Amino acid sequence: MVSSLLPSPCYVPGISGGLDLLRKYAGPAPRYTSYPTANHFTDNLAAFDPAGLIAEDNRPGAGALSLYVHLPFCQSRCWFCGCTNLITRQQSAADAYLDDLEREIALVRRRLDPARAVTQLHLGGGTPTFLSETQLRRLGAILHAAFSFEADAEIAVEIDPRHLEAGQVAALREMGARRASIGVQDTDPAVQMAIHRVQPPALNERAFTLLRNAGFNSINVDLIHGLPKQTVSTFARTIDDVLGLAPDRLSVFSYAHVPGLKPAQRIFDEQGVLPELNEKLRMQVLARERLLAAGYVDIGMDHYARPNDELAIAARNGGLHRNFQGYSTRAGASVYGFGISSISSTPGGYRQNHKTMTAYRRALDRGELPVVRGWRLTEEDRRRQILIMRLMCERRLEFKALSSEWGVDVAAVYAAELASLADLEADGLVVRTADGITVTDTGLPFMRVVAARFDAYLQPGAGCHARAV
Ligand code: SF4
Repeated sequence: MVSSLLPSPCYVPGISGGLDLLRKYAGPAPRYTSYPTANHFTDNLAAFDPAGLIAEDNRPGAGALSLYVHLPFCQSRCWFCGCTNLITRQQSAADAYLDDLEREIALVRRRLDPARAVTQLHLGGGTPTFLSETQLRRLGAILHAAFSFEADAEIAVEIDPRHLEAGQVAALREMGARRASIGVQDTDPAVQMAIHRVQPPALNERAFTLLRNAGFNSINVDLIHGLPKQTVSTFARTIDDVLGLAPDRLSVFSYAHVPGLKPAQRIFDEQGVLPELNEKLRMQVLARERLLAAGYVDIGMDHYARPNDELAIAARNGGLHRNFQGYSTRAGASVYGFGISSISSTPGGYRQNHKTMTAYRRALDRGELPVVRGWRLTEEDRRRQILIMRLMCERRLEFKALSSEWGVDVAAVYAAELASLADLEADGLVVRTADGITVTDTGLPFMRVVAARFDAYLQPGAGCHARAV
């Protein structure tokens, strides 16, 4: 359906033109794994009724389940990190947490129709492989006892190569995991020292070997550009190192510098080690050019995949979806998140768990859902959610189909938002017609900017989001 929109190997008319556009649209913008974004959620529980959201989702004919389990422990802090994590070397902390997860899963499970199967499970962190082989087996047993998984359920886990043993990989395979996402960030020793994460490339190779030998059939690598001490040439070497591992997918994220929210990042300002914006943008251009030249397809939002990967196929065929884990090929599933800070998404709205272990545990002790914030979607929110998600997944909006679906004249109702795209159109990033709008190949790296024009909650100059490109 969107084959005409597939990215071509050309990026923009020349690197300097590309840099001009990147500079022009480099302000903060959300990644839209939800709409509204999580910073707009309310802590007035009565306003969104967490238990009510689950009850409404449990209607007859409700869709499948997509599970997310947040495993927050890390043995040391990487100074660039924006995740919710707990630094500890106490392995027993994970035993107590598994007790908590078991209680939370039971609280939610009893509210759900047992016939609803799980089509997706994502283990994120923190560091899921902080858990020992025995602890991972127990987690698998808890999940499989509580839920019935479809035979081809997509089970994915985030991997830290610094903490990975063959026994853990075996336990993950027993759980059904076949997808892994490996955090590499950068392979340069000076960058690794600067971010407090020393991870020699040999560890990445070892992780690939362990995972491939165990039957993992899809491995993603996460890279970050804009880190301290990074230069275009060190990042070029990183990309070469990683391409040598032949990953199935790559994510090349822009480092989000938010020292006000993540105090550990202040050290980069104190040391003056962050690259200039121009250098950072050159890294972004370089990564895209190298990955396209190596045969990967740009999925959008910093994600790349081999042309025969199901994500790339879904992008070609209009079957791409987006949730808190990023892009997905599974449609219509309600997302149930477990563990501290996790977010659940059902048709009625969003629920986010407490971010501190103490508050999370206290709620469970009281037999309550450990929810701290959330949002109940209005009809207008739902429309804008669809507009934004379709733009990000299909790269276009068709007014006729949406107007008949919603019973309103979409072009008239969103006339102001459509008019606001004039600058993006003048720069060749979108095309507007009477029938709809299309994000061009050149516009692909600017998807967040296009989507943000339809965000009713975004304040101009909002500083809590990372840069858009
Ligand atoms: S990057 Fe990963 S391992 Fe490092 S602190 Fe963040 S969650 Fe932990």
